[in-house]
Amino acid sequence: MFVRVAVPVPLGQAFTYSVPEATKVAPVRGARVLVEFGKRKLFGVVLDVSPTAGDEVEPAKLKPVLAVIDTEPVVKSELLDFLLELARYYLAPIGEVLRLALPALERGSLEDLAEQGLLAPKARAVGRVVQVAVASAGASAPETLAGAALAVWQHLSEKEAVPIGDLEKLHKGARRTIKKLAELGLCHIERREQVSANATAEFSPDQRPELTEAQARAVAALTEALDQRTPRAFLLDGVTASGKTEVYLHAAEHCLKQGKGAIVLVPEIALTPQLTARFRARLGDAIAIVHSGLGNKERLHMWKQLQKGAFKVAVGARSALFAPVTDLALICVDEEHDGSFKQEEGVRYNARDMALLRAHRAEAVAVLGSATPSLSSEAAVRSGKMTRLRLPARANQKAVLPRVTVVDLKRVGAGPSGDRFLSLPLYRALERCLGAGEQAILFLNRRGFAPSLVCEGCGNFIECPQCSVAMTLHRARGERLVCHYCDYARARTETCPRCGSDRLTEEGVGTERVEEQLGKAFPKARIGRLDRDVAAGAKSERVLARMRRGEIDILVGTQMVTKGHDLPSVTLVGVLNADAALSLPDFRAAERCFHLLVQVAGRAGRGDKPGEVLIQTRQPEHPAVALAAQHDVPGFTEREMRERRELGYPPFARLALIKLDALDAAVAEREATRLAALARSLATPVISVVGPAPAPLARLRNRYRFRFMVRGSDRAALRKVLLGLARAKPRGDVRVAIDVDPVSML
Ligand code: ADP
Ligand code: ZN
Ligand code: ZN
Repeated sequence: MFVRVAVPVPLGQAFTYSVPEATKVAPVRGARVLVEFGKRKLFGVVLDVSPTAGDEVEPAKLKPVLAVIDTEPVVKSELLDFLLELARYYLAPIGEVLRLALPALERGSLEDLAEQGLLAPKARAVGRVVQVAVASAGASAPETLAGAALAVWQHLSEKEAVPIGDLEKLHKGARRTIKKLAELGLCHIERREQVSANATAEFSPDQRPELTEAQARAVAALTEALDQRTPRAFLLDGVTASGKTEVYLHAAEHCLKQGKGAIVLVPEIALTPQLTARFRARLGDAIAIVHSGLGNKERLHMWKQLQKGAFKVAVGARSALFAPVTDLALICVDEEHDGSFKQEEGVRYNARDMALLRAHRAEAVAVLGSATPSLSSEAAVRSGKMTRLRLPARANQKAVLPRVTVVDLKRVGAGPSGDRFLSLPLYRALERCLGAGEQAILFLNRRGFAPSLVCEGCGNFIECPQCSVAMTLHRARGERLVCHYCDYARARTETCPRCGSDRLTEEGVGTERVEEQLGKAFPKARIGRLDRDVAAGAKSERVLARMRRGEIDILVGTQMVTKGHDLPSVTLVGVLNADAALSLPDFRAAERCFHLLVQVAGRAGRGDKPGEVLIQTRQPEHPAVALAAQHDVPGFTEREMRERRELGYPPFARLALIKLDALDAAVAEREATRLAALARSLATPVISVVGPAPAPLARLRNRYRFRFMVRGSDRAALRKVLLGLARAKPRGDVRVAIDVDPVSML
């Protein structure tokens, strides 16, 4: 007997092994096996079992399977088929894709092996022992700390515990650096299970509001589709605070009643403990909340509970799409327009798109919800692939959409505090809000104190030594310059490294600066900040909890403040600079800016008091700004669809971005040129190849980046080109990634 096995290695194909006659357990599709791969012993998953070895391989040369671990499939065929299709779609190695679905593959196997007494002492080395570095409580870095050590320390001090392996990926030599830091008493090394964010999530009592008419209609459509058991996809198109969550809850409840399973995907689970608490309160404890803060043990536990069917519902960020939910009948994707559903490294999959695929294959119902549907969803509705369900008004009848005012920064100057980012209208609005004892949110898409240090001598800004971007000045925990792309950090310099001038000006405004200046402008106000610097993981929950308890008057923050929070006492939202999002070199810049503005505006006036939104911009006439101010989602969608059609961009064409990088710019460029030529030779006239060109972010972590685009609407013709590229072996130290349906163009 022979088996084809997917092994978690970055190679495209599966590998064939022979099954020794003496093997006690017969391998089945979806079961784990222990195999030798090169010199390593690895766990893999059986894709096929067959009596012959296939034509290309010589049976006598095949290695034998070392052990068969499961008698039953650990990956059921519904999930396995889906993973194979996903691997095919993204031209990704099946072993790597399986790894997404089996986060506990290695460890789980080890435990099972140990139970069965199969674990030889040597094989233990196969399992990954995770060492984490833990920052010592209250420790602060000595002045002398610099360079890599400072960068690693900064990274550590922002998190609770960081696996050293992860650190090593970010900073070469981190392992040694950690030892040094440990000697300095700044941290220590542990082998530990990470704490679960579940433990800290607040449990709210189960309040079951009476559905609004629109909600009831949406729920009825979904339950009908669930009963019919034919694959259907829905777009839940509901304004902010229209009560979309309530609709997911009802649909999930319906599944549970029928003994069926459901998956609910949300963009950022760490930021939405409120949401998960609502799911727990309503659906009971037998649901799996999957998030990155889970330790291996908890992850394995949830995985096994789902696998057995003891848990029927999985809620989580994009990786929850791979949860082994049994009798899957429903997949909900909340805030489906959100870019975080796209994984930008390793297997570059988009959980929103793949949710549709998995649901379709499983004959389940898919519900994609948003106040600002993506253009892909819009196109799917228009072509009849998805059915639109509308929630046109806020669920709470007293809550109406906020009044939005656009402040033209070209005409309106600074308010009484003299800060340019605090225009007179915004200043007055804040005064009014504070006076009434209400809460405000100010949104700025820049963390740190000042986005750059500019030299007045030569006009250059201080650049990251490893990337082609300006370093951001941070002040909150000691002055330092930080690269937001590679996390490299250094002490602030007093002189320009290029011309030696000591006239360095702090340019621009980041959240730290806003926080500081607001404190001066409104000395009595309690000000909070929410961005990646203050709020890694569980800490963000604390800031939001303080906000909910009314202990913060003004919350300043980055994207983190825009995400789905339901804070009923917020009546004022200020967007400090809408232009930042518009200036990115990306065909989706306008769409993203529009989504961001509508979403952040959606945080205002969710309670009984009316909300007010101020958008500061230098481009008040830009459609993304002007239409967001009118909450005109259909108007913007119509315009943007027209433009995409004219330019031949998605959803009217398919794209793939071929990204190359190398330590040497010339090497990267040469390889990009070679592969682009290959693509052109494979392309039919309906496919166009654009580029190569340097990436907008031309250098990252010391690697020079080039890319080219393959574009066309003929799926098969496009695939042919991509397959050819995937098979071409890159030369030298060049790394090549094929990004199918790219989300970030940087
Ligand atoms: P969305 O996800 O559409 O932005 P949420 O599900 O967060 O909206 O709901 C917004 C607010 O409205 C929440 O505070 C929620 O409890 C409330 N809500 C939802 N449905 C109803 C209803 N039928 N009646 C009253 N309040 C509701
Ligand atoms: Zn200079
Ligand atoms: Zn950098």
